Amino acid sequence: MKRMDISRVRKAEAELLLPTYERYPLMATHGRGVHLYSDTGDRYLDFLSGIGVNALGYAYPAITKAIEKQARKLIHTSNLFFTPYQAELALRLTKLSGLDRAFFTNSGTEAWEGALKFARAYARHSCKNGEQPAWRVLAMENSFHGRTFGSLATTWTAKYRDPFGPLMPGVTFVRFNDSEDLKKNFDSTVCAVCVETIQGEGGVTAITKEFFAMARALTKKTGALLLVDEIQCGLGRTGKYFAYQHHGILPDIVTVAKPLAAGLPLGAILTTHAVSECMHPGLHGTTFGGGPLSCAAAIAFLDTLKKEKLLPHVIKMGEHARRRFEALKKKHRAIREVRVFGLMIGIEVDSPDLAKRVVQQMLERKIVINRTHETVIRMLPPYIIEKKHIDEVAKALDLVLAEAARN
Ligand code: PLP
Repeated sequence: MKRMDISRVRKAEAELLLPTYERYPLMATHGRGVHLYSDTGDRYLDFLSGIGVNALGYAYPAITKAIEKQARKLIHTSNLFFTPYQAELALRLTKLSGLDRAFFTNSGTEAWEGALKFARAYARHSCKNGEQPAWRVLAMENSFHGRTFGSLATTWTAKYRDPFGPLMPGVTFVRFNDSEDLKKNFDSTVCAVCVETIQGEGGVTAITKEFFAMARALTKKTGALLLVDEIQCGLGRTGKYFAYQHHGILPDIVTVAKPLAAGLPLGAILTTHAVSECMHPGLHGTTFGGGPLSCAAAIAFLDTLKKEKLLPHVIKMGEHARRRFEALKKKHRAIREVRVFGLMIGIEVDSPDLAKRVVQQMLERKIVINRTHETVIRMLPPYIIEKKHIDEVAKALDLVLAEAARN
């Protein structure tokens, strides 16, 4: 196929693809380390890493090597056969998470969809003869769990949900971090309480200790499940393997995805033994999920986190980022709040237009970030960044905000 330049690609996509994405004016050709390169030869400092996926940056040698090696051996077999990879990966994930079992998927939304199904199956399995199984699901305001039907039903944003109704019934939204609202809506008909430990699309907002503890206590009381979505904040992003580990709470089901296979599509649902007891062959499945190639990359990813001591590095870089961005807050009245959890960073500004403009102008300065929840500038840089990269971003942001204040 003849290589097209960005204007021809843009025109061809406009004619050939469903118009679901508003892309940045950048045609990516390759990446190395923390940098992404465009067809014009420009180098971008990538502080978004494929929306939290490329946690080791681009072309990380251990990942490239693992993928190359595995691609020569076995890419796909389906789940009809044993391969050594799923159990090896599950061994690591269960050890790291404190949970007991794993099911592998291809994406975040597929993991969340499975988690919801397991909660319904568990409620049915554990109810006594003749009883109506618990079936209601409590989800959070400002949540995001994905675009398939169950995930959408538990996702707060009306513009994502409304065009597709009616969605899965039985979902009630609770005000995030409002323990009273949670208590008011919780009863024995609830089979699952769903939270993100840190809401990503919802503006980089963390769950409070009190609310998390309340969700755990209520669910324990009735046997409902606590479902925790760590698709964006899990697997090292906050400086611990799982963000719930900052709170000393163990959920019944956890979903992870984005960085799991360091760029290849892979998600996982991690559960307790009790949840796995309600499953049997044929009850759930996927053709591609947990394929040898993705699993080999995920094993290399987790082994690299440990070998290179990247979690303490994430904490150190997060502290540096906090210092730099808090200093900017003192200087720029447009910054309302700086929220930093390891390398999950949200900078809330006082208008959606400003947030949009900042993203655009940072891109003009060859830095990739994005905007979420209208007014929040979000950064999800790779775990391998150094202080100098944070300084570069802070300096550019300072200039962009100063310019915006002048105009
Ligand atoms: N859950 C959370 C917390 C997410 O951030 C996302 C994606 O941004 C999803 C679920 C959906 O994941 P995917 O886009 O891989 O389906």
